[in-house]
Amino acid sequence: MDKQAVFAEVANVEERIGELYAQVGSLKRKIVELIEENQKLTMENAKLRKILDQLHPEEQVHPGDGYDNLARIYHDGFHVCHVRFGSLRTDGDCLFCLSLLNKTG
Ligand SMILES: [Zn+2]
Repeated sequence: MDKQAVFAEVANVEERIGELYAQVGSLKRKIVELIEENQKLTMENAKLRKILDQLHPEEQVHPGDGYDNLARIYHDGFHVCHVRFGSLRTDGDCLFCLSLLNKTG
């Protein structure tokens, strides 16, 4: 086997390992950035939810339930009214639910 060729190959592998090492470092920095951004967004989200709850205190029992969510839950067969929230609708349409959905929508 040609010694020169072996040395050249080793040098080549060394160079590639160096590049991979740099790539790993760069990925690590990106992961840290993403974790920090996620943490900031989580905190911002909590802050905004708190403000939203203060603006609509009557909806505090189920924060974050937008109209679409409620309508979907209702159409899936559950009550969304305050009277029976979350229980299965066994008697067809519920007037309390419908009036809530009409009000919210
Ligand atoms: Zn209902």
